[in-house]
Amino acid sequence: MSAQRKPDWLRAKLPTGPAYQATRRMVEDNKLHTVCQSAQCPNIGECWSRGTATVMILGNICTRSCNFCAIQSGRPTEHDLGEPARVADAVAKMGLRHCVITSVARDDLKDGGASVWAATIRAVRYKNPHCAIEVLVPDFVGKLEQVDIVLAAKPDIFNHNLETVERLQRPVRVQARYDRSRSVLQHAKSRGFTTKTGIMLGLGEKPEEIEQTLRDIAADKTDILTLGQYLQPTPQHWKIDRWVPPEEFAQWKKLGLELGIGVIESGPLVRSSYHADEQSAKYVGE
Ligand code: SF4
Ligand code: SF4
Repeated sequence: MSAQRKPDWLRAKLPTGPAYQATRRMVEDNKLHTVCQSAQCPNIGECWSRGTATVMILGNICTRSCNFCAIQSGRPTEHDLGEPARVADAVAKMGLRHCVITSVARDDLKDGGASVWAATIRAVRYKNPHCAIEVLVPDFVGKLEQVDIVLAAKPDIFNHNLETVERLQRPVRVQARYDRSRSVLQHAKSRGFTTKTGIMLGLGEKPEEIEQTLRDIAADKTDILTLGQYLQPTPQHWKIDRWVPPEEFAQWKKLGLELGIGVIESGPLVRSSYHADEQSAKYVGE
């Protein structure tokens, strides 16, 4: 199949309808960024129509420049002290029982944005005491004391994406490192947190590399894994190597479960925050 033409299994629901518009208005009214928009997520029609969005804190300009990512990179301008309260308000308006919050990488800030992360978690919990809070965090350049600042606010699920296999980290994730990302996940696990990670397929990884990554994730005792198809946001981004068929996603899920990973969501349109409430129901008692 041509690498340019999307297969039928990747056709997602179009963004329309009153529920979608209500989510869009809520995001705009609260002056929030979402990864749904910034990363051009193909699930936006479905998720926003269900009244769920993944808020992206600390601005929408990232200090990193991963070759697969649609988020703008450059020098961030935002350090918005009102953001935690607005995120908490948005979660309340969406009436979520499970929220997912993410951020750009803020290597320009002294603490990597960890204190804003902690303030956001606390503000969301204060206003939404029954909502499970899942955080999808950057690697904080491997500074575990910064990770601890986030953990001190007690998120229910601690998520950090490996994104790809070890060999492709340098070309695809540029400023990140596989072992560093693993150390962040291992650290959260050692502190007793439910951990989660995700990788994309279709970037050029080989089957034995995918298998090794699953083994590493299982060895780190990571609880939840998402596997999804890489989609190339623009012609300037990393080229899609192949469309991975749904049956292959099912095979990797089977292997991962056999290796001992607790929950695996695996399919072409799966993203970290896609049906995140269902992925983590086993761990947060939903
Ligand atoms: Fe947003 Fe996540 Fe849904 Fe994509 S999968 S639209 S990022 S909530
Ligand atoms: Fe995108 Fe995250 Fe990489 Fe920044 S660190 S470019 S937000 S994937």
